[in-house]
Amino acid sequence: GVALALSLAACGGEGAGSGDSGSSGEKPADLTIGVSMPTQTSERWIADGKSVKEKLEAKGYKVDLQYAGDDIPTQSQQVDQMITQGADVLIIAAIDGTALSSQLQAAADKKIPVIAYDRLIRDSKNVDFYVSFDNYKVGVAQANALLVGLGLLKEDGSKGTATGPFNVELFAGSLDDNNAHFFFSGAMDTLKPYLDSKTLVVKSGQTKIEQVATLRWQQETAQKRMEDLLTKSYNDGTKVQGVLSPYDGLSRGIITALQNAGYGKGSAMPPVTGQDAEIASVKLINDGVQSSTIFKDTRLLAEQAVIASEAFLQDKTPTANDSKTYDNGVKVVPSYLLPVVTVYKANIQKELIDSGYWTAEEVAAGQ
Ligand code: BGC
Repeated sequence: GVALALSLAACGGEGAGSGDSGSSGEKPADLTIGVSMPTQTSERWIADGKSVKEKLEAKGYKVDLQYAGDDIPTQSQQVDQMITQGADVLIIAAIDGTALSSQLQAAADKKIPVIAYDRLIRDSKNVDFYVSFDNYKVGVAQANALLVGLGLLKEDGSKGTATGPFNVELFAGSLDDNNAHFFFSGAMDTLKPYLDSKTLVVKSGQTKIEQVATLRWQQETAQKRMEDLLTKSYNDGTKVQGVLSPYDGLSRGIITALQNAGYGKGSAMPPVTGQDAEIASVKLINDGVQSSTIFKDTRLLAEQAVIASEAFLQDKTPTANDSKTYDNGVKVVPSYLLPVVTVYKANIQKELIDSGYWTAEEVAAGQ
């Protein structure tokens, strides 16, 4: 009896839309969506939180939005609290993709659907849906942007006029973020032929994700590593000619290290890639200092999170457009993935200003 009851309880809330919370009879004003975001140090998460909250509130729902200051215990505690305070759906962008299993079990026990936001939550069966961008393609786009910056490719993807060889260095994100692995493998698969033919040379020899990762995506950590690379691997007069960076914050740390070492004075900076179209980096791109970024429209991601939440609240299954890519170690999580856009100086106007993401004034000011 007890064993059966327990195993039945453990199954509860597993399938999409199986929850009893927020059954169709309830009004939006009676329903609360808990939104757990990782940090406010990067502006994208501020924008994500704001968009999700505004869009849910516009539909009449209550929203409990929390930021965890990139601290894992804080995020666990915030999610625990959302559950005890009666959240009807959880939207979570995890700091450490493997650290929330007990919270998600508690959510499942109460039949609260869980939507992983942007970052996949791993090692738990209690992840009901995933909304994100095509993270492998982000990495491919970053590698292509590096090749464009070096002149090996043209922006339309055709062969460029440069031949190399070029010295490049590689950076990756935080190892506990599932996305970091997708970004890096997309990039490395794209760069492999160039590395194999020695058109690209990584002088430090650091090409494994464990060697090039940046814990918690911290700018200072990337700056420090770039400084170390310059002193250790480029003290013989050779120059770094390009840097693969997975995120604008890291790109700015890398650029600072390069500038402090004299790069960019009277000569062009080596191409440094990025991600997120953060305003400080968009200005650097506009000024010819950073070469590119990958724009992921957080407004569209927020919209997908809202659509998925509503589906769960109406006891429906949200529509996935990918049901094979995101295996979290326990199950393949049905996903809705959005496309990404590479931004260079030439398309800042079209992609970022005309779309209303940033104003021309913000781009000029860098804030
Ligand atoms: C996100 C990126 C972001 C990075 C650092 C990743 O999980 O997908 O957009 O640059 O975290 O915040």
